[in-house]
Amino acid sequence: MKAVRSMVLVSSDPQSMNQGAQLVFDRLQQELKAFGLESEISLSMVGDVGRHDAVPMVIVYPEAVIYGPVKPDDVHFLVEEHLYKGRLATSLQAPAKELTGRIAWLSARRGTLPAEQRVLLRRVGVIDPNSIEEYIVHDGYAALGKALTEMTPEQVIAEIEKSGLRGRGGAGFPTGTKWKFVSKAAGARKYVIMNADESEPGTFKDRLLLEGDPHSLIEALIIAGYAVGAQEAYIYVRGEYMLAQERLRTAIQQAHEMGFLGENIFGTNFSYDIHIHSGAGAYICGEETALIESIEGKRGEPRPRPPYPTTNGLWNKPTLVNNVETLANIPPILHNGAAWYRTLGTPSSPGTKVYTILGNVNATGLIEVPMGITLREVIAIYGKGMRNGATFKMAQTGGSSGSIIPASLQDTPMDFDSFNKAGVSLGSGALLICDDNNCVVDLAKVLLNFFREESCGKCNPCRIGNQRGFQILSNIAEGVAVLKDLDDLELLAENLYQLSNCGLGQTAGAPIKDVLKYFRAEVEAHIRLKVCPSGVCPMSGKKYHI
Ligand code: SF4
Repeated sequence: MKAVRSMVLVSSDPQSMNQGAQLVFDRLQQELKAFGLESEISLSMVGDVGRHDAVPMVIVYPEAVIYGPVKPDDVHFLVEEHLYKGRLATSLQAPAKELTGRIAWLSARRGTLPAEQRVLLRRVGVIDPNSIEEYIVHDGYAALGKALTEMTPEQVIAEIEKSGLRGRGGAGFPTGTKWKFVSKAAGARKYVIMNADESEPGTFKDRLLLEGDPHSLIEALIIAGYAVGAQEAYIYVRGEYMLAQERLRTAIQQAHEMGFLGENIFGTNFSYDIHIHSGAGAYICGEETALIESIEGKRGEPRPRPPYPTTNGLWNKPTLVNNVETLANIPPILHNGAAWYRTLGTPSSPGTKVYTILGNVNATGLIEVPMGITLREVIAIYGKGMRNGATFKMAQTGGSSGSIIPASLQDTPMDFDSFNKAGVSLGSGALLICDDNNCVVDLAKVLLNFFREESCGKCNPCRIGNQRGFQILSNIAEGVAVLKDLDDLELLAENLYQLSNCGLGQTAGAPIKDVLKYFRAEVEAHIRLKVCPSGVCPMSGKKYHI
Protein backbone atom coordinates (compact mmCIF):
# COMPACT_ATOMS: atom_id res chain seq x y z
CA MET A 1 0.00 0.00 0.00
CA LYS A 2 1.51 3.34 -0.98
CA ALA A 3 1.77 6.39 1.29
CA VAL A 4 -0.92 9.02 0.74
CA ARG A 5 -1.44 12.53 2.05
CA SER A 6 -5.13 12.10 2.96
CA MET A 7 -7.56 9.26 3.55
CA VAL A 8 -11.18 9.69 2.56
CA LEU A 9 -13.66 7.22 4.09
CA VAL A 10 -17.30 6.84 3.05
CA SER A 11 -19.69 5.22 5.54
CA SER A 12 -21.29 2.11 4.08
CA ASP A 13 -23.60 0.73 6.75
CA PRO A 14 -27.04 -0.27 5.39
CA GLN A 15 -28.56 3.13 6.22
CA SER A 16 -25.77 4.94 4.36
CA MET A 17 -26.15 2.59 1.40
CA ASN A 18 -29.88 3.28 1.32
CA GLN A 19 -29.14 7.01 1.30
CA GLY A 20 -26.84 6.81 -1.72
CA ALA A 21 -23.38 6.08 -0.25
CA GLN A 22 -22.40 4.16 -3.38
CA LEU A 23 -23.23 7.14 -5.62
CA VAL A 24 -21.22 9.43 -3.35
CA PHE A 25 -18.29 7.01 -3.50
CA ASP A 26 -18.47 6.77 -7.31
CA ARG A 27 -18.64 10.56 -7.61
CA LEU A 28 -15.65 10.95 -5.27
CA GLN A 29 -13.68 8.61 -7.52
CA GLN A 30 -14.57 10.73 -10.55
CA GLU A 31 -13.79 14.06 -8.87
CA LEU A 32 -10.47 12.89 -7.42
CA LYS A 33 -9.49 11.86 -10.89
CA ALA A 34 -10.73 15.13 -12.40
CA PHE A 35 -8.61 17.15 -9.94
CA GLY A 36 -5.61 14.85 -10.52
CA LEU A 37 -5.62 13.75 -6.87
CA GLU A 38 -6.17 10.02 -7.24
CA SER A 39 -2.53 9.09 -6.62
CA GLU A 40 -2.14 11.09 -3.39
CA ILE A 41 -5.51 10.48 -1.71
CA SER A 42 -6.88 7.06 -0.76
CA LEU A 43 -10.59 6.49 -1.00
CA SER A 44 -12.39 3.65 0.83
CA MET A 45 -15.86 2.49 1.65
CA VAL A 46 -15.71 1.59 5.33
CA GLY A 47 -18.43 -0.03 7.39
CA ASP A 48 -20.47 1.59 10.10
CA VAL A 49 -18.71 4.64 11.52
CA GLY A 50 -20.92 4.65 14.59
CA ARG A 51 -23.09 7.63 13.79
CA HIS A 52 -26.30 7.54 11.73
CA ASP A 53 -27.86 10.97 12.02
CA ALA A 54 -26.21 12.45 8.93
CA VAL A 55 -25.48 9.63 6.49
CA PRO A 56 -23.87 9.02 4.13
CA MET A 57 -20.85 10.43 5.90
CA VAL A 58 -17.50 11.28 4.39
CA ILE A 59 -14.59 11.46 6.83
CA VAL A 60 -11.31 13.02 5.83
CA TYR A 61 -8.11 12.07 7.68
CA PRO A 62 -5.66 13.05 9.08
CA GLU A 63 -7.83 16.03 10.06
CA ALA A 64 -10.76 13.76 11.10
CA VAL A 65 -13.29 16.16 9.59
CA ILE A 66 -16.75 14.66 9.30
CA TYR A 67 -19.03 15.65 6.44
CA GLY A 68 -22.63 14.55 6.26
CA PRO A 69 -25.15 13.96 4.96
CA VAL A 70 -23.26 14.19 1.68
CA LYS A 71 -25.16 14.03 -1.60
CA PRO A 72 -23.54 13.18 -4.95
CA ASP A 73 -23.97 16.81 -6.05
CA ASP A 74 -21.99 18.01 -2.98
CA VAL A 75 -18.94 15.97 -3.91
CA HIS A 76 -17.40 18.39 -6.43
CA PHE A 77 -17.45 21.23 -3.87
CA LEU A 78 -16.09 18.96 -1.10
CA VAL A 79 -13.18 17.76 -3.22
CA GLU A 80 -12.38 21.21 -4.54
CA GLU A 81 -12.52 22.94 -1.14
CA HIS A 82 -11.01 20.41 1.23
CA LEU A 83 -8.81 18.18 -0.85
CA TYR A 84 -7.69 20.57 -3.62
CA LYS A 85 -7.63 23.99 -1.92
CA GLY A 86 -7.06 22.72 1.63
CA ARG A 87 -10.00 24.61 3.23
CA LEU A 88 -12.84 23.12 5.25
CA ALA A 89 -16.08 22.73 3.30
CA THR A 90 -17.89 24.02 6.37
CA SER A 91 -21.36 24.06 4.82
CA LEU A 92 -21.16 20.27 4.42
CA GLN A 93 -19.88 19.45 7.90
CA ALA A 94 -22.01 17.09 9.98
CA PRO A 95 -23.89 18.79 12.82
CA ALA A 96 -21.97 18.98 16.09
CA LYS A 97 -23.02 16.10 18.27
CA GLU A 98 -21.71 13.89 21.03
CA LEU A 99 -19.86 11.22 19.13
CA THR A 100 -19.99 7.49 19.58
CA GLY A 101 -18.33 4.48 18.04
CA ARG A 102 -15.40 4.73 15.70
CA ILE A 103 -15.51 8.49 15.28
CA ALA A 104 -15.53 8.94 19.04
CA TRP A 105 -12.49 6.77 19.38
CA LEU A 106 -10.62 8.60 16.69
CA SER A 107 -11.62 11.92 18.18
CA ALA A 108 -10.51 10.66 21.59
CA ARG A 109 -7.03 10.35 20.26
CA ARG A 110 -7.26 14.06 19.62
CA GLY A 111 -8.14 14.63 23.28
CA THR A 112 -11.86 15.24 23.13
CA LEU A 113 -13.40 12.10 24.63
CA PRO A 114 -12.23 9.30 26.93
CA ALA A 115 -10.66 6.61 24.79
CA GLU A 116 -11.97 3.10 24.47
CA GLN A 117 -9.63 0.16 24.26
CA ARG A 118 -10.13 -1.22 20.78
CA VAL A 119 -8.64 -4.57 19.98
CA LEU A 120 -11.30 -6.23 17.85
CA LEU A 121 -12.57 -3.03 16.26
CA ARG A 122 -9.18 -1.41 15.76
CA ARG A 123 -9.37 -1.65 11.97
CA VAL A 124 -13.13 -1.09 11.61
CA GLY A 125 -13.78 2.27 9.98
CA VAL A 126 -10.09 2.70 9.16
CA ILE A 127 -9.25 0.17 6.46
CA ASP A 128 -11.06 -0.66 3.27
CA PRO A 129 -12.83 -3.95 4.11
CA ASN A 130 -12.64 -4.97 0.46
CA SER A 131 -8.85 -4.73 0.41
CA ILE A 132 -6.77 -7.67 1.58
CA GLU A 133 -3.67 -5.52 1.03
CA GLU A 134 -4.84 -2.96 3.59
CA TYR A 135 -5.62 -5.78 6.02
CA ILE A 136 -2.15 -7.22 5.58
CA VAL A 137 -0.52 -3.82 6.10
CA HIS A 138 -2.38 -3.64 9.44
CA ASP A 139 -0.84 -6.93 10.71
CA GLY A 140 -3.39 -9.06 8.87
CA TYR A 141 -2.66 -12.78 8.41
CA ALA A 142 0.48 -12.47 10.57
CA ALA A 143 -1.13 -14.60 13.29
CA LEU A 144 -2.07 -17.22 10.71
CA GLY A 145 1.48 -17.33 9.40
CA LYS A 146 2.81 -17.70 12.95
CA ALA A 147 0.32 -20.47 13.79
CA LEU A 148 0.93 -22.51 10.65
CA THR A 149 4.69 -22.16 10.40
CA GLU A 150 5.85 -21.86 14.03
CA MET A 151 3.25 -23.68 16.12
CA THR A 152 1.66 -27.11 16.30
CA PRO A 153 -2.14 -27.29 16.59
CA GLU A 154 -1.68 -28.28 20.24
CA GLN A 155 0.42 -25.18 20.88
CA VAL A 156 -2.22 -22.97 19.29
CA ILE A 157 -4.89 -24.44 21.56
CA ALA A 158 -2.59 -24.13 24.58
CA GLU A 159 -2.06 -20.42 23.80
CA ILE A 160 -5.80 -19.82 23.55
CA GLU A 161 -6.31 -21.68 26.84
CA LYS A 162 -3.56 -19.62 28.48
CA SER A 163 -5.17 -16.40 27.29
CA GLY A 164 -8.30 -17.19 29.32
CA LEU A 165 -10.57 -16.20 26.41
CA ARG A 166 -14.22 -17.03 27.16
CA GLY A 167 -16.98 -17.33 24.57
CA ARG A 168 -18.68 -14.01 23.87
CA GLY A 169 -22.00 -15.54 22.83
CA GLY A 170 -23.35 -15.19 26.37
CA ALA A 171 -22.42 -18.31 28.34
CA GLY A 172 -18.73 -17.45 28.78
CA PHE A 173 -17.47 -21.03 28.25
CA PRO A 174 -13.64 -21.20 28.01
CA THR A 175 -12.80 -21.11 24.29
CA GLY A 176 -9.57 -23.11 24.56
CA THR A 177 -11.38 -25.94 26.35
CA LYS A 178 -14.00 -26.09 23.60
CA TRP A 179 -11.27 -26.20 20.95
CA LYS A 180 -9.57 -29.02 22.86
CA PHE A 181 -12.80 -31.06 22.96
CA VAL A 182 -13.11 -30.85 19.16
CA SER A 183 -9.44 -31.52 18.57
CA LYS A 184 -9.57 -34.65 20.72
CA ALA A 185 -12.93 -35.90 19.35
CA ALA A 186 -12.68 -39.10 17.33
CA GLY A 187 -13.03 -38.85 13.56
CA ALA A 188 -10.96 -37.61 10.65
CA ARG A 189 -13.62 -35.23 9.25
CA LYS A 190 -14.30 -32.12 11.35
CA TYR A 191 -15.92 -28.73 10.83
CA VAL A 192 -15.74 -25.20 12.17
CA ILE A 193 -18.80 -22.96 12.16
CA MET A 194 -18.86 -19.23 12.79
CA ASN A 195 -22.20 -18.22 14.24
CA ALA A 196 -22.94 -14.89 12.58
CA ASP A 197 -26.71 -15.16 12.97
CA GLU A 198 -26.83 -12.09 15.18
CA SER A 199 -30.53 -11.67 15.97
CA GLU A 200 -30.74 -10.38 19.55
CA PRO A 201 -32.82 -7.20 19.46
CA GLY A 202 -30.55 -4.17 19.83
CA THR A 203 -27.34 -6.06 19.07
CA PHE A 204 -25.32 -5.13 16.01
CA LYS A 205 -21.70 -5.55 17.10
CA ASP A 206 -21.07 -8.63 14.97
CA ARG A 207 -22.43 -6.83 11.93
CA LEU A 208 -19.81 -4.11 12.36
CA LEU A 209 -17.03 -6.66 12.61
CA LEU A 210 -18.29 -8.58 9.58
CA GLU A 211 -18.74 -5.47 7.46
CA GLY A 212 -15.73 -3.53 8.68
CA ASP A 213 -13.03 -6.18 9.09
CA PRO A 214 -14.09 -9.41 7.33
CA HIS A 215 -10.55 -10.67 6.83
CA SER A 216 -9.95 -10.82 10.59
CA LEU A 217 -12.75 -13.38 10.83
CA ILE A 218 -11.54 -15.36 7.83
CA GLU A 219 -8.10 -15.46 9.44
CA ALA A 220 -9.58 -16.60 12.76
CA LEU A 221 -11.59 -19.35 11.05
CA ILE A 222 -8.48 -20.70 9.31
CA ILE A 223 -6.52 -20.73 12.59
CA ALA A 224 -9.42 -22.49 14.33
CA GLY A 225 -9.57 -25.11 11.58
CA TYR A 226 -5.84 -25.74 11.82
CA ALA A 227 -6.01 -26.06 15.62
CA VAL A 228 -8.90 -28.53 15.81
CA GLY A 229 -8.04 -30.52 12.68
CA ALA A 230 -10.96 -29.41 10.49
CA GLN A 231 -11.03 -29.34 6.70
CA GLU A 232 -13.93 -26.96 6.12
CA ALA A 233 -15.69 -24.07 7.80
CA TYR A 234 -19.16 -22.59 7.43
CA ILE A 235 -20.17 -19.04 8.18
CA TYR A 236 -23.84 -19.01 9.16
CA VAL A 237 -24.73 -15.39 8.58
CA ARG A 238 -27.99 -13.63 9.24
CA GLY A 239 -29.96 -13.30 6.00
CA GLU A 240 -30.57 -9.57 6.45
CA TYR A 241 -26.82 -8.91 6.64
CA MET A 242 -26.41 -8.65 2.89
CA LEU A 243 -23.51 -6.22 2.95
CA ALA A 244 -21.67 -8.47 5.41
CA GLN A 245 -22.25 -11.45 3.14
CA GLU A 246 -20.92 -9.56 0.14
CA ARG A 247 -17.78 -8.52 2.04
CA LEU A 248 -17.21 -12.03 3.35
CA ARG A 249 -17.49 -13.43 -0.17
CA THR A 250 -14.94 -10.91 -1.41
CA ALA A 251 -12.63 -11.69 1.52
CA ILE A 252 -12.83 -15.45 0.90
CA GLN A 253 -12.04 -14.96 -2.79
CA GLN A 254 -9.08 -12.69 -2.00
CA ALA A 255 -7.78 -15.14 0.63
CA HIS A 256 -7.92 -17.87 -2.04
CA GLU A 257 -6.01 -15.69 -4.48
CA MET A 258 -3.33 -14.98 -1.86
CA GLY A 259 -3.01 -18.67 -0.95
CA PHE A 260 -4.45 -18.32 2.57
CA LEU A 261 -7.29 -20.70 1.64
CA GLY A 262 -7.27 -23.81 -0.52
CA GLU A 263 -4.55 -26.43 -0.83
CA ASN A 264 -1.30 -26.46 1.19
CA ILE A 265 -1.67 -23.11 2.90
CA PHE A 266 1.70 -21.41 3.60
CA GLY A 267 3.33 -24.42 1.92
CA THR A 268 2.20 -26.73 4.74
CA ASN A 269 0.08 -29.89 4.54
CA PHE A 270 -2.91 -27.95 5.81
CA SER A 271 -5.73 -27.44 3.28
CA TYR A 272 -8.96 -25.65 4.14
CA ASP A 273 -11.99 -23.93 2.68
CA ILE A 274 -14.78 -21.68 3.93
CA HIS A 275 -18.43 -21.59 2.80
CA ILE A 276 -21.13 -19.02 3.50
CA HIS A 277 -24.63 -20.11 4.50
CA SER A 278 -27.28 -17.42 4.67
CA GLY A 279 -29.92 -17.71 7.38
CA ALA A 280 -33.59 -17.03 6.72
CA GLY A 281 -34.50 -14.82 9.64
CA ALA A 282 -35.30 -17.30 12.43
CA TYR A 283 -34.03 -16.17 15.85
CA ILE A 284 -33.78 -19.78 16.99
CA CYS A 285 -31.11 -20.50 14.36
CA GLY A 286 -28.67 -18.59 16.56
CA GLU A 287 -28.84 -21.64 18.85
CA GLU A 288 -25.93 -23.78 17.74
CA THR A 289 -27.75 -27.07 17.18
CA ALA A 290 -30.66 -25.39 15.35
CA LEU A 291 -28.06 -23.63 13.24
CA ILE A 292 -26.45 -26.97 12.40
CA GLU A 293 -29.84 -28.42 11.45
CA SER A 294 -30.39 -25.41 9.20
CA ILE A 295 -27.05 -25.84 7.40
CA GLU A 296 -27.98 -29.49 6.86
CA GLY A 297 -31.08 -28.28 5.04
CA LYS A 298 -33.56 -29.16 7.78
CA ARG A 299 -36.02 -27.06 9.73
CA GLY A 300 -34.08 -24.97 12.25
CA GLU A 301 -35.02 -26.69 15.51
CA PRO A 302 -32.60 -27.35 18.37
CA ARG A 303 -31.38 -30.89 18.99
CA PRO A 304 -31.50 -32.45 22.44
CA ARG A 305 -28.06 -32.29 24.13
CA PRO A 306 -25.97 -34.35 24.85
CA PRO A 307 -24.43 -35.31 22.53
CA TYR A 308 -22.82 -31.93 21.99
CA PRO A 309 -21.63 -30.53 18.63
CA THR A 310 -18.01 -30.93 19.80
CA THR A 311 -18.45 -34.68 19.15
CA ASN A 312 -21.66 -34.90 17.08
CA GLY A 313 -22.18 -31.71 15.16
CA LEU A 314 -22.55 -30.94 11.47
CA TRP A 315 -23.43 -34.14 9.60
CA ASN A 316 -22.75 -35.88 12.93
CA LYS A 317 -19.07 -34.97 12.80
CA PRO A 318 -17.11 -33.14 15.52
CA THR A 319 -17.80 -29.45 15.05
CA LEU A 320 -16.48 -26.29 16.65
CA VAL A 321 -19.10 -23.54 16.85
CA ASN A 322 -17.89 -20.10 17.92
CA ASN A 323 -19.57 -16.76 17.54
CA VAL A 324 -18.15 -13.79 15.63
CA GLU A 325 -16.83 -11.79 18.58
CA THR A 326 -15.13 -14.83 20.12
CA LEU A 327 -13.32 -15.61 16.88
CA ALA A 328 -12.30 -11.98 16.37
CA ASN A 329 -10.15 -12.36 19.51
CA ILE A 330 -8.07 -15.19 18.04
CA PRO A 331 -5.67 -13.32 15.67
CA PRO A 332 -4.71 -10.63 18.26
CA ILE A 333 -4.13 -13.30 20.92
CA LEU A 334 -1.83 -15.34 18.69
CA HIS A 335 -0.13 -12.27 17.26
CA ASN A 336 0.59 -10.59 20.62
CA GLY A 337 0.61 -13.61 22.92
CA ALA A 338 -1.60 -14.85 25.75
CA ALA A 339 0.35 -12.85 28.36
CA TRP A 340 -0.46 -9.59 26.54
CA TYR A 341 -4.14 -10.57 26.32
CA ARG A 342 -4.26 -11.16 30.07
CA THR A 343 -3.23 -7.56 30.69
CA LEU A 344 -6.70 -6.56 29.41
CA GLY A 345 -9.90 -7.01 31.40
CA THR A 346 -10.10 -8.94 34.69
CA PRO A 347 -8.20 -12.08 35.82
CA SER A 348 -11.22 -14.36 35.31
CA SER A 349 -12.55 -12.57 32.19
CA PRO A 350 -9.56 -11.29 30.23
CA GLY A 351 -9.88 -9.16 27.12
CA THR A 352 -12.31 -6.56 25.93
CA LYS A 353 -16.04 -6.65 25.25
CA VAL A 354 -17.98 -4.94 22.51
CA TYR A 355 -21.25 -3.42 23.70
CA THR A 356 -24.06 -1.69 21.92
CA ILE A 357 -25.57 1.12 24.03
CA LEU A 358 -29.24 1.88 23.47
CA GLY A 359 -32.11 3.59 25.21
CA ASN A 360 -32.45 6.70 27.36
CA VAL A 361 -28.87 7.96 27.27
CA ASN A 362 -27.45 10.97 25.48
CA ALA A 363 -25.14 9.01 23.19
CA THR A 364 -26.06 5.62 21.80
CA GLY A 365 -23.78 3.47 19.68
CA LEU A 366 -21.06 0.90 19.96
CA ILE A 367 -18.04 0.69 22.25
CA GLU A 368 -15.22 -1.74 22.94
CA VAL A 369 -13.97 -1.57 26.50
CA PRO A 370 -12.04 -3.87 28.84
CA MET A 371 -14.05 -6.53 30.65
CA GLY A 372 -14.91 -5.39 34.17
CA ILE A 373 -16.12 -1.86 33.46
CA THR A 374 -19.32 -1.04 35.35
CA LEU A 375 -22.68 -0.05 33.97
CA ARG A 376 -22.44 3.27 35.81
CA GLU A 377 -19.19 4.01 33.95
CA VAL A 378 -20.69 3.03 30.61
CA ILE A 379 -23.65 5.35 31.14
CA ALA A 380 -21.58 8.26 32.44
CA ILE A 381 -18.59 8.10 30.10
CA TYR A 382 -19.81 6.57 26.85
CA GLY A 383 -23.57 7.17 27.11
CA LYS A 384 -22.79 10.77 28.18
CA GLY A 385 -25.31 10.47 31.01
CA MET A 386 -29.05 9.86 31.14
CA ARG A 387 -31.08 11.76 28.56
CA ASN A 388 -32.82 14.89 29.88
CA GLY A 389 -31.16 14.33 33.26
CA ALA A 390 -33.61 11.49 34.02
CA THR A 391 -32.97 8.89 36.72
CA PHE A 392 -31.55 5.51 35.78
CA LYS A 393 -34.06 2.80 36.60
CA MET A 394 -32.89 -0.44 35.01
CA ALA A 395 -30.90 -1.89 32.15
CA GLN A 396 -31.45 -4.92 30.06
CA THR A 397 -28.17 -6.60 29.34
CA GLY A 398 -27.61 -8.81 26.36
CA GLY A 399 -30.71 -8.56 24.20
CA SER A 400 -33.80 -10.61 25.02
CA SER A 401 -31.87 -13.46 26.57
CA GLY A 402 -30.01 -11.25 29.06
CA SER A 403 -31.08 -9.95 32.45
CA ILE A 404 -32.99 -6.95 33.73
CA ILE A 405 -30.71 -5.29 36.24
CA PRO A 406 -31.75 -2.63 38.75
CA ALA A 407 -29.86 0.50 39.84
CA SER A 408 -28.49 -1.38 42.86
CA LEU A 409 -26.32 -3.50 40.54
CA GLN A 410 -24.95 -0.73 38.33
CA ASP A 411 -21.60 -0.82 40.13
CA THR A 412 -21.12 -4.55 39.55
CA PRO A 413 -18.11 -5.14 37.28
CA MET A 414 -19.35 -6.39 33.92
CA ASP A 415 -17.43 -9.63 33.69
CA PHE A 416 -18.68 -13.20 33.61
CA ASP A 417 -17.94 -14.16 37.23
CA SER A 418 -19.07 -10.91 38.88
CA PHE A 419 -22.33 -11.03 36.94
CA ASN A 420 -22.81 -14.72 37.75
CA LYS A 421 -22.31 -13.99 41.44
CA ALA A 422 -24.90 -11.23 41.23
CA GLY A 423 -27.29 -13.66 39.52
CA VAL A 424 -27.42 -11.76 36.23
CA SER A 425 -26.25 -12.56 32.74
CA LEU A 426 -23.96 -10.59 30.46
CA GLY A 427 -25.72 -11.96 27.38
CA SER A 428 -24.78 -10.80 23.91
CA GLY A 429 -23.54 -7.32 24.78
CA ALA A 430 -26.54 -5.06 24.11
CA LEU A 431 -27.12 -2.59 26.95
CA LEU A 432 -30.65 -1.20 26.89
CA ILE A 433 -30.65 1.67 29.39
CA CYS A 434 -34.05 2.68 30.77
CA ASP A 435 -35.02 5.70 32.84
CA ASP A 436 -37.90 5.91 35.32
CA ASN A 437 -40.43 6.62 32.59
CA ASN A 438 -40.27 2.94 31.61
CA CYS A 439 -42.43 0.29 33.19
CA VAL A 440 -41.01 -3.11 34.20
CA VAL A 441 -44.26 -4.90 33.41
CA ASP A 442 -44.30 -3.40 29.94
CA LEU A 443 -40.65 -4.39 29.34
CA ALA A 444 -41.25 -7.98 30.49
CA LYS A 445 -44.38 -8.14 28.31
CA VAL A 446 -42.43 -7.01 25.23
CA LEU A 447 -39.79 -9.66 25.90
CA LEU A 448 -42.30 -12.47 26.41
CA ASN A 449 -44.07 -11.38 23.24
CA PHE A 450 -40.74 -11.74 21.43
CA PHE A 451 -40.14 -15.21 22.86
CA ARG A 452 -43.63 -16.49 22.07
CA GLU A 453 -43.16 -15.32 18.47
CA GLU A 454 -39.68 -16.82 18.14
CA SER A 455 -40.26 -20.13 19.98
CA CYS A 456 -39.75 -22.88 17.43
CA GLY A 457 -42.62 -24.82 19.01
CA LYS A 458 -40.78 -28.09 19.38
CA CYS A 459 -41.35 -28.47 23.13
CA ASN A 460 -44.47 -27.69 25.16
CA PRO A 461 -42.98 -25.76 28.11
CA CYS A 462 -41.61 -23.10 25.75
CA ARG A 463 -44.36 -23.09 23.13
CA ILE A 464 -47.21 -22.85 25.66
CA GLY A 465 -45.28 -21.28 28.55
CA ASN A 466 -44.27 -18.16 26.67
CA GLN A 467 -47.80 -17.65 25.42
CA ARG A 468 -49.16 -18.01 28.94
CA GLY A 469 -46.52 -15.72 30.41
CA PHE A 470 -47.36 -13.04 27.86
CA GLN A 471 -51.07 -13.32 28.68
CA ILE A 472 -50.56 -13.00 32.44
CA LEU A 473 -48.27 -9.99 31.97
CA SER A 474 -50.82 -8.45 29.61
CA ASN A 475 -53.51 -8.86 32.24
CA ILE A 476 -51.27 -7.16 34.82
CA ALA A 477 -50.70 -4.30 32.36
CA GLU A 478 -54.45 -3.99 31.75
CA GLY A 479 -55.25 -3.90 35.48
CA VAL A 480 -57.26 -7.14 35.51
CA ALA A 481 -54.79 -9.52 37.19
CA VAL A 482 -55.02 -10.90 40.74
CA LEU A 483 -52.17 -11.45 43.17
CA LYS A 484 -52.24 -15.21 42.65
CA ASP A 485 -51.17 -14.59 39.05
CA LEU A 486 -47.75 -13.62 40.41
CA ASP A 487 -47.37 -17.11 41.97
CA ASP A 488 -48.32 -18.60 38.60
CA LEU A 489 -45.76 -16.37 36.88
CA GLU A 490 -43.01 -17.46 39.26
CA LEU A 491 -43.84 -21.14 38.76
CA LEU A 492 -44.00 -20.61 35.02
CA ALA A 493 -40.55 -18.98 34.94
CA GLU A 494 -39.07 -21.89 36.90
CA ASN A 495 -40.75 -24.46 34.63
CA LEU A 496 -39.46 -22.66 31.54
CA TYR A 497 -35.96 -22.82 32.97
CA GLN A 498 -36.15 -26.44 34.14
CA LEU A 499 -38.13 -28.10 31.35
CA SER A 500 -37.36 -26.29 28.09
CA ASN A 501 -35.24 -28.09 25.54
CA CYS A 502 -32.91 -25.22 24.63
CA GLY A 503 -31.56 -21.87 25.70
CA LEU A 504 -34.44 -19.87 24.22
CA GLY A 505 -37.02 -21.41 26.53
CA GLN A 506 -34.59 -21.62 29.43
CA THR A 507 -33.83 -17.90 29.36
CA ALA A 508 -37.38 -16.78 28.55
CA GLY A 509 -38.29 -16.96 32.23
CA ALA A 510 -35.37 -14.70 33.23
CA PRO A 511 -37.15 -11.36 32.70
CA ILE A 512 -40.09 -12.60 34.78
CA LYS A 513 -37.80 -13.66 37.61
CA ASP A 514 -35.86 -10.40 37.49
CA VAL A 515 -38.98 -8.26 37.49
CA LEU A 516 -40.46 -10.12 40.47
CA LYS A 517 -37.14 -10.11 42.33
CA TYR A 518 -36.20 -6.46 41.91
CA PHE A 519 -39.45 -4.63 41.12
CA ARG A 520 -42.19 -6.59 42.91
CA ALA A 521 -43.73 -3.51 44.54
CA GLU A 522 -44.18 -1.88 41.13
CA VAL A 523 -45.77 -5.03 39.71
CA GLU A 524 -48.08 -5.35 42.72
CA ALA A 525 -49.16 -1.70 42.32
CA HIS A 526 -50.60 -2.70 38.92
CA ILE A 527 -52.71 -5.35 40.67
CA ARG A 528 -53.59 -3.86 44.05
CA LEU A 529 -54.03 -0.20 43.04
CA LYS A 530 -54.80 -0.71 39.32
CA VAL A 531 -52.16 1.91 38.57
CA CYS A 532 -49.06 1.83 36.40
CA PRO A 533 -46.60 3.95 38.45
CA SER A 534 -44.68 4.87 35.27
CA GLY A 535 -47.84 5.75 33.36
CA VAL A 536 -47.05 3.35 30.53
CA CYS A 537 -49.52 0.45 30.83
CA PRO A 538 -52.98 0.96 29.33
CA MET A 539 -54.99 -0.22 32.39
CA SER A 540 -58.02 -0.48 30.12
CA GLY A 541 -59.61 -3.45 31.87
CA LYS A 542 -59.26 -5.64 28.79
CA LYS A 543 -58.85 -9.28 29.80
CA TYR A 544 -56.61 -11.76 28.01
CA HIS A 545 -58.11 -15.22 28.47
CA ILE A 546 -55.77 -18.02 29.33
FE1 SF4 B 1 -38.02 -24.71 20.46
FE2 SF4 B 1 -38.48 -23.28 22.67
FE3 SF4 B 1 -38.19 -25.89 22.84
FE4 SF4 B 1 -36.10 -24.34 22.26
S1 SF4 B 1 -37.20 -24.36 24.16
S2 SF4 B 1 -36.68 -26.28 21.31
S3 SF4 B 1 -37.11 -22.75 21.02
S4 SF4 B 1 -39.81 -24.80 21.72
